[in-house]
Amino acid sequence: MVAHATYNYDVLVIGAGGAGLRAAIEAANAGVSVGLICKSLLGKAHTVMAEGGMAAAMAHNDDRDSWRVHFADTMRGGQYVNNWRMAELHAKEAPDRVRELEGWGAVFDRTPDGRINQRNFGGHRYPRLAHVGDRTGLELIRTLQDHAVYLGMTVHMEHTVIELLLDGGRAAGVLAYDRERGRFHVFGAKAIVLATGGVGRAYKITSNSWEGTGDGHALAYRAGAELIDMEFIQFHPTGMVWPPSVRGILVTEGVRGEGGVLKNSEGRRFMFDDIPDNYKAQTASDPEEGWRYTQGDKSARRPPELLTRDHVARCINREVKAGRGSPHGGVFLDIAWIKEKLKDSEAHIKRKLPSMYHQFKELADLDITSEAMEVGPTTHYIMGGIRVDADTQMSTIPGLFAAGECASGINGANRLGGNSLSDLIVFGKRAGEYAATYARENASARIDDGAVERATRDVLKPFEAGDQGENPYKVQADLQDTMQNLVGIVRQESEMQEAVSRIQQLNERAARVGVSGHREYHAGWHTSIDVRNLLSISEAIARSAIERKESRGGHFREDYPQKLDEFGTFNIMVKRGSDGRVQVSRMPIPVMPDYLKEVIEEQKS
Ligand SMILES: Cc1cc2nc3c(=O)[nH]c(=O)nc-3n(C[C@H](O)[C@H](O)[C@H](O)COP(=O)(O)OP(=O)(O)OC[C@H]3O[C@@H](n4cnc5c(N)ncnc54)[C@H](O)[C@@H]3O)c2cc1C
Repeated sequence: MVAHATYNYDVLVIGAGGAGLRAAIEAANAGVSVGLICKSLLGKAHTVMAEGGMAAAMAHNDDRDSWRVHFADTMRGGQYVNNWRMAELHAKEAPDRVRELEGWGAVFDRTPDGRINQRNFGGHRYPRLAHVGDRTGLELIRTLQDHAVYLGMTVHMEHTVIELLLDGGRAAGVLAYDRERGRFHVFGAKAIVLATGGVGRAYKITSNSWEGTGDGHALAYRAGAELIDMEFIQFHPTGMVWPPSVRGILVTEGVRGEGGVLKNSEGRRFMFDDIPDNYKAQTASDPEEGWRYTQGDKSARRPPELLTRDHVARCINREVKAGRGSPHGGVFLDIAWIKEKLKDSEAHIKRKLPSMYHQFKELADLDITSEAMEVGPTTHYIMGGIRVDADTQMSTIPGLFAAGECASGINGANRLGGNSLSDLIVFGKRAGEYAATYARENASARIDDGAVERATRDVLKPFEAGDQGENPYKVQADLQDTMQNLVGIVRQESEMQEAVSRIQQLNERAARVGVSGHREYHAGWHTSIDVRNLLSISEAIARSAIERKESRGGHFREDYPQKLDEFGTFNIMVKRGSDGRVQVSRMPIPVMPDYLKEVIEEQKS
């Protein structure tokens, strides 16, 4: 039997963060009908929290910058397991995408001669992040949202997609419920773009918003798409650690970009003690040179605080473990010290880092213009996600596209800060464009009534168990503890095997979760649905991490601490087998063409 869709679109975009909005704009520009679904209100997606900026080699602050340097930086940061074609497209197209935003009315900080100002960030050789103070995500979302509304599309806010519907292996639509009333809706579409963001809520300490429950990853996985690089999780080095209620909230890398330094309890700038060989030539040899770099001195090299995030996070972890941490289990991040260098330092800090100033003042009663912050690693970003074609962003399921954090490839083993916002606009645009083309070239697919019924029944099961069932919040909290403690920043085989077996037990508990009452704005019921997704994703992370028996980027193994050449030749891929179990395999990385190899060689010095 064929179900009647409540809504039908040519292109259906799931997610209204930077990637989803940019995809929707492009599809609307192509003249097809566009529907946009998001869990929260329009304008409130996680992207709104982005602070530091978007990376694009516009060379406004240093004319030595170019797509070649950006490409090489991204590949080095990703430890060469990136999808090189995506890294190339990203480096080449990001400047145009940023200028386009400017044309649509985005406000940016300016250089003295009126161009978009660019700031330093970890792993970027030159100042490259276009920014608006430390509220860049807000400006990005505001601009894209205004433009999307201006172009015209239908937005279904506060709707959660719970199942992807296929027709003979091709994307056909989705089943969703509205969060307000709990009613189900079927959306038919010729092409679907997933832009659902990250998975941070699988961990206990995270910078991610409540939306980061890996829905797109899980929806695609359940529908048979391939996920790659799931072992690579970015633990951002600087999250708040105190008070406990705010643990994990991000402290932007912009603080270090503006001259902030990391110190241990002995007052030592410990980052100078551990500079990886492949970054030595580009790293300052003393604090004075590091300071000069942050102030735009082109002859200076960057301070070690601006090494890649994976490395800085591990150095902080080491200081804390060695008993040289701050009182609440972090280290000190000090921007107040710049008063030794700048007369108007207080006003300067408030101007460059307004959100950080307010965040610490209001949440921790601490004035960052006069005191050091306490910071520690927080789960921030997943490099892994849905495997897509670099040019079109189509997944391995025909008609299903993915962009932004839920897609994978560009970042390899570690993302450079600022490369996500530019990823959203570069690949969001591409996903929208090719989804529109696909929709034009293909007729509507059929919605399978049986699949809708099965999926509906599944998500309503918790109401049958009622108060006698497992508490969904408790299952989620136990999963977060498991991932934090056993598949965290430093990993080893026995702990990850333990995580896999706990996840199996949690799956059994998740099948018995119960909720009572009606479906309207039922947070417990919503959590019972989130938990399913988080469990699938956590298992994919743990199993991929077990398979990568080396250390690279966001994946560090105590039992295999070295990076091994052999592991640099493939990505780890997970897929749902026909028996419903996770299948893990190694997917060879295609050979990089000579012209890109030359770029990498030329930028090595
Ligand atoms: C605090 C913080 C600061 C950051 N700062 C920077 C920065 O300065 N520069 C940078 O490059 N990166 C930064 N990042 C990373 C970057 O913000 C994210 O990677 C990026 O915003 C993700 O965008 P997205 O469009 O992929 O998804 P998101 O912005 O996460 O949006 C996901 C959308 O999908 C919707 N959705 C999810 N699941 C469903 C579902 N089941 N049904 C319907 N809708 C659904 C959500 O409601 C939302 O609308 C930061 C991250 C954090 C946490």
